[in-house]
This record gives sequence, C-alpha cells and structure tokens, in this order.
Amino acid sequence: MKKYDAIIIGFGKGGKTLAADLGNRGWSVAVIERSSSMYGGTCINIGCIPTKLLVHLSQTAHYHEFTTFEQYANAFHQAIEEKRNITSMLRRKNFENLDTKDTVTVYTGIASFRSLSEIEVRTESETFVLEGEKIFINTGATTVIPPIKGVSDNPFIYTSTSIMELDKLPRHLTIVGGGYIGLEFASIFANFGSKVTVLEDGDKFIPREDRDIAEAVKAVLEKKGISIQLNAIVQEIEHDADKATIIYRNAQNGETTRVEADAVLLATGRRPNTEGLNLEAVGVKLTERGAIEVDDHLHTSVNNIWAIGDVRGGLQFTYLSLDDYRIIRDELFGNDRRNTGDREAIAYSVFIDPPLSHVGMTEEQARHTGRNIKVGKILAASMPRTLTVGQTDGLLKTVIDADTNQILGCTLFCAESSEVINIVSLAMRMNNNYVYLRDNIFTHPSMSESLNDLYSSIK
Ligand SMILES: Cc1cc2nc3c(=O)[nH]c(=O)nc-3n(C[C@H](O)[C@H](O)[C@H](O)COP(=O)(O)OP(=O)(O)OC[C@H]3O[C@@H](n4cnc5c(N)ncnc54)[C@H](O)[C@@H]3O)c2cc1C
Repeated sequence: MKKYDAIIIGFGKGGKTLAADLGNRGWSVAVIERSSSMYGGTCINIGCIPTKLLVHLSQTAHYHEFTTFEQYANAFHQAIEEKRNITSMLRRKNFENLDTKDTVTVYTGIASFRSLSEIEVRTESETFVLEGEKIFINTGATTVIPPIKGVSDNPFIYTSTSIMELDKLPRHLTIVGGGYIGLEFASIFANFGSKVTVLEDGDKFIPREDRDIAEAVKAVLEKKGISIQLNAIVQEIEHDADKATIIYRNAQNGETTRVEADAVLLATGRRPNTEGLNLEAVGVKLTERGAIEVDDHLHTSVNNIWAIGDVRGGLQFTYLSLDDYRIIRDELFGNDRRNTGDREAIAYSVFIDPPLSHVGMTEEQARHTGRNIKVGKILAASMPRTLTVGQTDGLLKTVIDADTNQILGCTLFCAESSEVINIVSLAMRMNNNYVYLRDNIFTHPSMSESLNDLYSSIK
C-alpha cells in the first residue's frame, strides 16, 4: 500500500493550493479527483469562471442589439465554444501545476474511507487503497434536484452545469429558484435574447437584501424582459417532444399557471458532497444540514482529518475555500492563530448586469442591533463613470454607526461593483472610519470614486 504524508480528497480550490504548498515543502501528497473533467474543481470548470465569461459575452451580445433570434443564437453558440476552450485550458494548467511536482500524485478515481488513515480509490479500471497520515476532505457541493413530479428523465431539464453545455440557445428559459445563481443565469440568457421566467417559491425577492435594493434589482431585471414570479410553487414539469410545461401554484391566491419553455434550469441550491465517502465508518460527524462538522480550525470530529470548502457547510465561495487553506497552513507551519472566527467583512458579488455586491450588515440588520445608525444612498447614474461604460442602472447604499463612524455595511448595485466592494471591505477591516473613504483620493472617472459621493451622502 502506498503511504503519503497527506491525502487530499477532491481537487477543489483550498485542496489544490494546499497540495502544491505541501508538495513544495517536501511532503508526499496524493490528490484524488473523481472526474478527469473536474481537475481544478468547480470554480474553473462549472462555477465562477465559465459563468463570469458567459456574463461578459452575453453583455457583448446584448450591446450588439442583433435584429434576429438567429444572430443571438449564433453569438450564444460561439460563447459556449469559447467557454469550452477556456475551461479546458485552465483544467490542463491546473492538472499540470500539481502533476509536474515530484512530490504530488494525482489519482483519477472516487475516494472513500476504509479506516482513519486508509482511503480506497476506485478508478475506471481498478480499486486500490492509499494510506495517509493527514487527510483533507475537499469534495465541494452538488446541485440539489428538487423532488418535483416530471423532473427525472425530462430532456428539457438542466442544472447550472449542463445548461453551460447547451449548443442551442433556448427561446424560452424557465428558472426554478430565484437565488443568486438562478439570477446570474437569468441575466445571461436574457442578454443573449432568450425570454426568461424566474419562479421563486418565497414571497420576498432576494430576501437577504434591503427592500429598496431588492426593488432596484427587480426593476433592472424586469427591464431586460425577465419575468419574476414570487410565491410560485412548482407542482409538476410535463413535457412532449418539443417543449416542457411547468405547472405552478401561487401560494397566496392558490391560482395554477402553466408556462411553456424549451429549457428549464433547476437552481434550488447546492448541498455538501459527502455521499459515498463512508464517513460514518470512521466517525466523521455531519451537521443537521449534511455538511461535515468542523471546529474553527477546520478539524472534523476525527483528529487527523480536516474539511475544506463547500463540504464543511456555510457560505459557498471559492475565496473562502482558499482561506480555509490559509488556516490549515497557519496551523501546520505558522503560529496557529488564524481561524474561521477571524473572518470579518466578507463580501460577495452577484454577477447580474450590473453586478450586485454586498459586505457587512444591511440597513435592516443594523437597525435590529439597536445601534444609532445613519444611512447614505446615491443613484449609480449620478456617477460619470457609469456613462463612460454605458451602464447607468443601479443604487448604492451604506449604513454606518452614528456614534463611532464605523462602516457597518455597504451594498453596491452598479457597474464594476464586484471590484469596488473589495475597497469597502478592506476599509472595514483596516480602519473602519467612513470618513476615510469619504475623503480618499480616487482616480477619475472610476467607480471607486463613487465611494466619495456615497459616504458624503450620509444623513
Ligand atoms: C454556477 C456557479 C457559479 C458560481 N460562481 C461563483 C463566483 O462567482 N464566485 C465564487 O466565489 N464562488 C462561486 N461559486 C461557488 C464556488 O464555485 C465554490 O464555492 C467553490 O468552487 C468550492 O470549492 P471547493 O474547494 O469547496 O471544492 P470544489 O471546487 O467544488 O471541488 C471539489 C472536487 O471534489 C471532487 N469530488 C467530490 N467527491 C469526490 C470523491 N468522493 N472522490 C474524489 N473526488 C471527489 C469533485 O469532482 C470536485 O472536483 C459558483 C458555483 C456555481 C455552481
């Protein structure tokens, strides 16, 4: 049996970065990835990178304002080809990054626990066992398929992964789920010229955000022609040879509606990937939601086993999986001070058009804390940069503590917000006095300078 200092199960962001680091330090490392089309993990193959490429290419198509559906369909087809080229280039690069190290071996097979230190690997042609002193689980998350009648064996049903393999642009796409991944696809396909319907079972649109922000986002998406139906409980998805028919009931008035589509995207969430790992056999505990239970140093309930990234539950972002790696590096080679409790002001961006980015508290959350707060708000259109990039939609908002001047939170729904939000989160971590951003010298014309105006608008 081959023995390794470390075995990493899953080629995710935190795991591959850890594997390279350990390998560079002379550790013998085995990385086990179940699929040759997933070297490099979700982010580069089926997550962040392909979706953001499609966001960009769909904006270009939208900008062209083609006159026929065929022109849009052609632009979509080319975009999918470009996505394939870029993801396969990144996949190859990710594989080589690890495979070219003498100390690291990549195995392509499905991993499961045999014992606390033994991992069984099932490849296409054989099954063998590896022994590892330390084991890191980095198996990510997988799409939840809701138990809706008519979903299985329905050729019109797609997940976020399979819809990015479509060669033909759908004329009408219906998205089940109005969460952030669903909305990104809504924006992409609407820009490419599809008619898009979003069915959300909740009664509030993007409930995590303040209502004024949610209304602004909804108005911009509707302006693109996206139909957003709240309280829509999908009952069944029928199909014939040409189309699917989605039957949903309105939870408020009980009315039943039928909507036809030539593609249906299921975007009802992603759950931690623990199936088949045989965790029960070695005593690795799961949370009630099925994630691997970890402490603030990412140790599982078993001493020599850690969990990294989406599989340990909580927010699912590539940059948090990467930060998990930093916590482990600090434990193994540093002063062991870093932990998940350190994470302050973690921002996120939803890449609709324009992007929606947020950090810290919303106004509603800040009010609930009982603090004395002040709010600042400006329209994106008031910033010269929005004219130069042709995207004047949006609203920017911040909330501060009136007694301490601390920034409590910020939401930017505007062009380039996915960049600018990082300035706010850095300011919150480093200095956290709003006056710093109000009076900072920014370049012009830039979206960053909107922070001067936003923080001057505080009342
Ligand atoms: C459509 C979409 C868009 C997204 N957009 C963004 C974004 O813009 N920004 C952002 O930060 N995040 C985004 N995310 C989330 C982000 O992709 C994930 O949070 C991140 O990739 C998780 O990385 P990870 O390290 O947990 O593992 P992953 O990268 O998910 O890797 C896990 C790997 O483990 C493998 N595996 C699973 N089980 C086994 C097994 N038993 N044996 C061997 N191998 C196994 C899998 O094949 C996979 O390759 C998006 C996700 C999706 C789906």
